[in-house]
Amino acid sequence: MSIVDNFSATYAEARDKFLAACEERGLTVENHLNDQAKGAEGEDLYMDVARIGADDAKKILIVSSATHGGEGFCGSGVQINLLRNGFFSDLPADTAVLLIHAVNPYGFSHVRRVNENNIDLNRNFRNYDEPLPDNAAYREVHEMIVPADWDGPARAEAEEKIAAYIAEKGMPAFQAAVTGGQHVEETGIFFGGKEASWSNKTLRAVAKKHAENTDHLALLDIHTGLGPYGFGELIYVSDLANLGRANDWYDNECTSPEDGSSSSAPVTGTMNFGITEMAPNAEHTCVAIEYGTIELMDVLNALRADNWLYVHGDIKSELGQKIKKDVRDAFYCDADDWKEMIWDRAHTVVSKALAGLAKS
Ligand SMILES: [Zn+2]
Repeated sequence: MSIVDNFSATYAEARDKFLAACEERGLTVENHLNDQAKGAEGEDLYMDVARIGADDAKKILIVSSATHGGEGFCGSGVQINLLRNGFFSDLPADTAVLLIHAVNPYGFSHVRRVNENNIDLNRNFRNYDEPLPDNAAYREVHEMIVPADWDGPARAEAEEKIAAYIAEKGMPAFQAAVTGGQHVEETGIFFGGKEASWSNKTLRAVAKKHAENTDHLALLDIHTGLGPYGFGELIYVSDLANLGRANDWYDNECTSPEDGSSSSAPVTGTMNFGITEMAPNAEHTCVAIEYGTIELMDVLNALRADNWLYVHGDIKSELGQKIKKDVRDAFYCDADDWKEMIWDRAHTVVSKALAGLAKS
């Protein structure tokens, strides 16, 4: 099986391949059924978890896919390639690896970035005992982001307003307003939710079971849609005080949304918080690998169109089908060179993570 053959065309295919690869390695897989929704083909949806290494390991590397649903085509391919290319067969006795396949299986199956409740999971991990933010910047752009039609006058007017907004305030301000995360418009994009989602609760339970008693937790959460084609940016998402350690592990390649060095705007409620809070005594070195696909505005427009489709449109229509294709293309470049770039970067980064854990 070649590298590119370990990527998949659907969630169902990806899950079958992941489970088969785990079986080939003799691994037991925990299957966490999402009882809130079904897949695009009516299939059951699972977050599947495979652990490699000793039960009492004090160091753990977590590699996760599909936090953003359709971005899972990439992350799943990486996880299956790690299994099928012999990775983790000689782990140190104090180290375990956890592969979490499809943090957001609904979005993966339906080729959406969000979950079954239109929630962006990477904005959902916050403390809901505290008041939710007002997100004034998002309120300003919501109407232009989600027009009443996608191929008529409302869309045309929205595009004019977006162009004017960017001309006045700049693209970084627009990106931050749109993508930073918001808890005010349930039908909007980058909606973080108003309570912990199924994936949030399930991921926390998984992290508690597998990492609660560890001394050091490293996370690689695999994403797509920002940055240059096929390039994997290492976005450091833990406590900034430990950015130096991450840069030591990853040869000074880490960026940070907080200091403006990343292609990502600063965001709140990312999934690493759900994991690290379950391992309170551990050091945390958490990184998102963000692989580029197509141009940022094309990605944002695909996400806007997808959101419009689920709020106002008909998925079976010609326009609906075109939008779904555009969304898929925004998440996943179905080309051999892209997949090989993804894998080259991924296995290098995984090896660096394990080397970093070994010296920590
Ligand atoms: Zn993502």
